[in-house]
Amino acid sequence: MTVFLWIPLAIVALWLVVLVAFARPLLARWREPVLRHPVLVIESDDWGAGPLEQAKALRELAAMLGRIRDGTGRPALMTLGMVFEVPDGPRILADGGTTYHGLPLSDPRFDEVCAAIKEGIAAGVFVPQLHGQAHYWPPALLAAAQSDASVRTWLTSPEPAATEDLPSHLQSRWVDAATLPSRPLDAAAIDAAVTFECESYRALFAAAPQVAVATTFVWSDAVERAWARAGIDTVITPGRRATCRDASGAPGGVDARMLNGDRAASGMTYLVRDVYFEPIKGHEPERLAAALAARTRQGRACLIETHRANFFGARAASLAALERGLRRALDEWPTLRFVAPLELARAIRERDPDWIATRSLPRLAARCARIAEIPRFRRAAYWTGLMLPLSRCNRRL
Ligand SMILES: [Zn+2]
Repeated sequence: MTVFLWIPLAIVALWLVVLVAFARPLLARWREPVLRHPVLVIESDDWGAGPLEQAKALRELAAMLGRIRDGTGRPALMTLGMVFEVPDGPRILADGGTTYHGLPLSDPRFDEVCAAIKEGIAAGVFVPQLHGQAHYWPPALLAAAQSDASVRTWLTSPEPAATEDLPSHLQSRWVDAATLPSRPLDAAAIDAAVTFECESYRALFAAAPQVAVATTFVWSDAVERAWARAGIDTVITPGRRATCRDASGAPGGVDARMLNGDRAASGMTYLVRDVYFEPIKGHEPERLAAALAARTRQGRACLIETHRANFFGARAASLAALERGLRRALDEWPTLRFVAPLELARAIRERDPDWIATRSLPRLAARCARIAEIPRFRRAAYWTGLMLPLSRCNRRL
């Protein structure tokens, strides 16, 4: 055999080695269903208990979303990650700061906030989902307040406080981050807390929650088991599960990675939300349309994460940025559909042909577009020359 035959054979063998080495993530992306339409979900967290200015922000958001329609006539919709409690500062102060008391969303001072949420739901522009009874673990907050004056001041605030002002690690509900690294919570305490917050949700919306998103995206298998027992169907994730706050306070202890439609051990369906759109951080409307284009190429829904804080002080500018982003997305993708996460999860789970591509070429193109995101695979494919045939294949599709 001549050298001219050996060299191509060796290259092909090298490519096979690379493909086998990355077989698991490649197969996972191959199996992940491919959507047949561009799909956009605006996911917004932290609504409910907290600053009373939310009522005005929610009404303005609802009016703006209602003006924008997809090709099926459905208005743009936004999920509201719901929080049902903030600290009752005056009561905590009266007890010398040693006992926690919550101020629930059912308190009459939040009536306007609740009314605005319900009006938006009735108009088809808001979809509530469970974020947590509180945006923190109360015993951890109380413990941290003993040594941190700023946390103590926040905890005893006379007005409903904004959890955005807490140190980031204390905003995680499902760990004890009073000291770092955080410690896991007792499973029985998690169970009781999930049961309680599902009751809060049911009291407000007359229905059990079906979609959950953990505060700061830190949660655990024990939390998932409790959610599943409470009837949660779909879990919003960033594509990985962080289980703790590390010594620096950052999310850590990643013990699972997931793609859209993957199932939890308890049977719940995962969705991936990995695009950030925070106008108060300088994100331009173009970011939203660009993210939609990238996810559409991958045959995935574009789940955009944003927070209520955008719509407080800089409300007008943030509203305008979101509206421009949505309109631009619709201009560029006229077949775009707005959808609620629960519907999306069901469509993926059931391989609904109205939502899931069945033709070979679009599926192959989307799978090729997903390959580049696999950590280290792109580099290995580049250095072995495998990227060349893959890129040619992608371009042809
Ligand atoms: Zn949050």
